[in-house]
Amino acid sequence: MDHSEVQAGCFGQFFARKARSRAPLQRPRPSPSSQAQDGPSEGTAENSHVYYQVSETLKTGEKTQQGDISYFNPCCDFSYGKQDERWIEQQQPPSYTPKIPTLSNTSDVCSVIERTLDKKSSDLRALSLKIHDHPELMFEERYAHDVLTEFMAEHGFKITKHYLGLETAWRAEYTQGTGGRVIGINSEMDALPGIGHACGHNLIAISGVGVAIALKAALQARPEVSAKIILLGTPAEEGGGGKVILLERGGYDEMDACVMCHPSAGLPHSTSLGSSTAMQYFLVEYFGHSAHAGGAPWEGTNALDAAFIAYSGISMLRQQMKPDHRVHGVVEGRNWLPNVIPDYARMRWIARAPTSEDLIPFAKRVQNCLEAAALATGCRIKLTVETSYFNLHQNSVLAQDFADIVGSRYGLAATSASTSASTDFGNVSYALPALHPAFAIPTEANGGNHTLAFAKAARSEAAHSATIAVAKGLALTGYRVLTDAEFFSKVQATFEQGKKSEC
Ligand SMILES: [Zn+2]
Ligand SMILES: [Zn+2]
Repeated sequence: MDHSEVQAGCFGQFFARKARSRAPLQRPRPSPSSQAQDGPSEGTAENSHVYYQVSETLKTGEKTQQGDISYFNPCCDFSYGKQDERWIEQQQPPSYTPKIPTLSNTSDVCSVIERTLDKKSSDLRALSLKIHDHPELMFEERYAHDVLTEFMAEHGFKITKHYLGLETAWRAEYTQGTGGRVIGINSEMDALPGIGHACGHNLIAISGVGVAIALKAALQARPEVSAKIILLGTPAEEGGGGKVILLERGGYDEMDACVMCHPSAGLPHSTSLGSSTAMQYFLVEYFGHSAHAGGAPWEGTNALDAAFIAYSGISMLRQQMKPDHRVHGVVEGRNWLPNVIPDYARMRWIARAPTSEDLIPFAKRVQNCLEAAALATGCRIKLTVETSYFNLHQNSVLAQDFADIVGSRYGLAATSASTSASTDFGNVSYALPALHPAFAIPTEANGGNHTLAFAKAARSEAAHSATIAVAKGLALTGYRVLTDAEFFSKVQATFEQGKKSEC
């Protein structure tokens, strides 16, 4: 597979529905047979033009200039929210001043975590901007791999580069004492073709680094505690399923729980602890036969026609599908000319549904449209069904603790709003207790994830401040996992209960 050309979808517009104060309900774990398929993003001819034009710039290694690129309409703008609910930076400048700077009987360690992140904030900001300025596509995150592992090594972590056979994956570990619990953290790194860090993974990268460093400082303040911190650098979230590969290869085996976060458009000073959709990704290729389009078109078998029939069929399917399902795709080809019958066309599609159980029959309907196009045109079809992303299964005990912390200490309102975007962390969340809050950063209207506006937002000071606040919350919840046995037993019980509910 040519990874550089794949652009699946992940997180966007997290805060779509009415805010509620409670943590989300558990969703059933999908059975092995229910591992459904990846989903799509809509692309217009105009968008495709912009995409190719700019991705060439990226491939040459030149720095992308915002001014060089036409506005890229959001391909995953699935918000149900109103425009006036968006966070407009000019109207509502953010403030992350802690409102209640006290907490429980571990406040000494809380202050260690907070002071560490405040102290490291400028270094983390510099790291974030470096990664933002060097956008790298899935499985090509070499620059991010190097700067992040160097940073973690400087902070006393044991580094494993090129982890588990993935060139751009990495692992940073800190161990204190022997035995004890293990907290996992994830840092994403990949960008999108043509629009750079339009999903804000530079912020995710430094949030993971910040959580790990803050937890290390907290453990050092309590030398009697035995525990381990494992930070994974996880490639290819936008497609390719880096975390799924690491999961299958044992990268999460040692962890008792795993945490990470993701920026999004959303209500000011808010964080979301809802689910995400299950996603199935298709690569379909049509093989026909070329002929002179004027002289002997009857001798040809038109692969582009197959792509158009597939596109039309799926567009009609969209009328009959449920409102919380999604299907989106793009057409690609080679050596196309109007006077030659195209002998090859390729399409990339993504289907999404709230759960894997919902996705299976829906993905089958999409697949039927793809196969019908081959039958209608006489083309040969090659269908590649790629890595599935499960819906996100937030551990409700972890989620509630995080919501309480960031609400009381940093003024962030927690909601249980779900998203119709998807993440490979969904698969992780079915293997062990997991927490994946989304958090709002200021952006412009219609400037959610996967837009140039969001890429700009992801390098703003306000976005950085939001990331630091969320990292503090994740570190504090992670610290409880490591040190509070009663709390962790509840986390485990909730996770086991979720597994049983699949039966
Ligand atoms: Zn994304
Ligand atoms: Zn993302």
